[in-house]
Amino acid sequence: MSAVMSTYGRYDLEFERGEGAYLYTTDGRRFLDFAAGIAVNSVGHSHPHLVKTLQDQAAKLWHVSNLYNIPDQTRLADRLAEASFADKVFFCNSGLEAMEGALKACRRYHFANGSPERTRFVTVEGSFHGRSFATIAAAQNEKHLEGFGPAVEGFDQVSFGNLNELRAAITPETAAIVFEPVQGEGGVRPADLDYLRSLREIADEFGVLLLLDEVQCGNGRTGKLFAHEWAGIKPDIMAIAKGIGGGFPMGAFMATEEAAKGMVPGTHGSTFGGNPLAAAVGNAVLDVLLEDGFLDTVDKNARILWDQVAEAVARYPDVYESIRGAGMMIGIKCVVPAGDVVVAFQKAGMLTVPAGDNVARLLPPLTIDESHIAEAVAIIDQVGKNWGSGDG
Ligand SMILES: *Cc1c(COP(=O)(O)O)cnc(C)c1O
Repeated sequence: MSAVMSTYGRYDLEFERGEGAYLYTTDGRRFLDFAAGIAVNSVGHSHPHLVKTLQDQAAKLWHVSNLYNIPDQTRLADRLAEASFADKVFFCNSGLEAMEGALKACRRYHFANGSPERTRFVTVEGSFHGRSFATIAAAQNEKHLEGFGPAVEGFDQVSFGNLNELRAAITPETAAIVFEPVQGEGGVRPADLDYLRSLREIADEFGVLLLLDEVQCGNGRTGKLFAHEWAGIKPDIMAIAKGIGGGFPMGAFMATEEAAKGMVPGTHGSTFGGNPLAAAVGNAVLDVLLEDGFLDTVDKNARILWDQVAEAVARYPDVYESIRGAGMMIGIKCVVPAGDVVVAFQKAGMLTVPAGDNVARLLPPLTIDESHIAEAVAIIDQVGKNWGSGDG
């Protein structure tokens, strides 16, 4: 028995190397990777530009403290700001840290703004924001909270899509509305674009901030750099992570100048956040995502993926119910247990991720082309056709 703490139920697979959209096990088997480390390997495995950047940087400088200027970090922040609604970026190392920092920044904004009583957050049912005390309290998933009480105070949850309930939940003590534009862990539930626009309007009307969690759906996943762009709105604060490091542990929260005004020297910190190694890789990922035409190609291929998966799913109504999602974030809602479907996909040579609401999640690298899509659809077909015959 291993000394690794048993917090994960693990599949019996060990990988040795990855190349593009494929992973290879230690015993030589090849898998089409439509899990991508849960939306992390955004530009595929062993992308030559990322490998070279990491190797070059590793030979020069790994880490210095944020007590010093880090030119690559400055450059990455400037580029992220330039490409988004944000003016300011704070780097950390994971999604939960990005959310934790973003939540802190919301409270601090109102503190700096002369409304220190605005400390509460309105959150939405079905979201996932990480596994820290504050982020499990934000999401209010009973399974994640169980045995970890008392829950952190300050979170008021409303149901998904219900604007009346949301308005009613906002009080003079509310600091921000917190929302995940495409719920990933919750079962790949995309928000209606009108709902997103309404969140922006309601935040403005009540003088609260809009904090978006784009840890999973950001960084090109939906075919735009950030998912909220589809609605034509801008948040005040946003958390990102997963795909932004392409496999290097990295997160960030981004804010407008106004929303960031409370975050003055000494208010927040991270030893590792945005260190030279991380910042070099983050810039390399952004080089790919911002390349001329890259996101257009992601969007085009995502539409092909959607159409073909939808057709395949419709052929086996006893196995698959429907599909949903946005861009290269597709959920197959299953009739049979989604966990079994994920295992059957694996046996057929494709990795996917289970999600809430009996969904199997497809999160391919953004770099896939039509040949990978055809391969995935063939596996979805094969598993659908053979379901119950004992050789799925
Ligand atoms: C994965 C995820 C997080 C947490 O990220 P970690 O890096 O695991 O801490 C937060 N929010 C969303 C939407 C996520 O998908």
